[in-house]
Amino acid sequence: MTEQHPPFLMELKSLTRSYAGTAGDIDVLKGVDLKIQAGESIAIVGPSGCGKSTLLNCMGGLDRPDSGEILFKGQSLSGYSAKELARFRNKEVAFVLQQHHLLPQCTVLENVLIPTLVARERGGAYERALALLEEVGLGERLHHRPQELSGGECQRVAVVRALINRPGLLLADEPTGSLNEENAFMLVDLLLHLNREQGMALVMVTHSLALAERLSRLCRLHDGKLEEQP
Ligand code: ADP
Repeated sequence: MTEQHPPFLMELKSLTRSYAGTAGDIDVLKGVDLKIQAGESIAIVGPSGCGKSTLLNCMGGLDRPDSGEILFKGQSLSGYSAKELARFRNKEVAFVLQQHHLLPQCTVLENVLIPTLVARERGGAYERALALLEEVGLGERLHHRPQELSGGECQRVAVVRALINRPGLLLADEPTGSLNEENAFMLVDLLLHLNREQGMALVMVTHSLALAERLSRLCRLHDGKLEEQP
């Protein structure tokens, strides 16, 4: 009897994506392949403008490749209904970006709970928010507003907000881009800790090789394709 393997968490097959420019089309992704197992951590590096954000946006269902396929737990995103796609974006994947994009008029706790207002399964969200904020060292800052926190602290709030709905995949696009070196290392420590503890896969775009090398796999986006580095 052949052994049944669970599908990959996400599988990218020959993804292409071009943009129409005034001076002609720009082919950004030219056949990207990647297999992501649940709980893995993968860094994506490459020079500015090579297509890293484009790739992450496709993986998160915010953009569509022109051709190729994205499978999530064995199912093609292109076959999702509008409702399934909305659920995928809200529950299964989450983003952390270079800027934290916290709402200035809301407290730390309120900011973290915003994604749970959209999700239907809200049970235990408040307790989870408290536990995660405690874990990232912000247990004493629940009722502060973002402008009362440092840049590193705001980024940690953004990480907790991303994790609140227990995504299987966290997509981090230059999450340390606005932080100094010390805070950048601390944030990656935190992401790796949560990656191991929560079993969520982490894909992080960074231009820092020193940070990238701390993840378990390193891929370079070069000439529109991903090359796994040994
Ligand atoms: P990276 O994240 O590696 O810096 P991006 O994915 O942001 O790269 O961009 C890749 C290339 O695609 C760049 O040349 C950029 O100018 C171009 N690009 C990105 N988004 C658009 C868009 N919406 N329209 C036209 N060109 C775009």
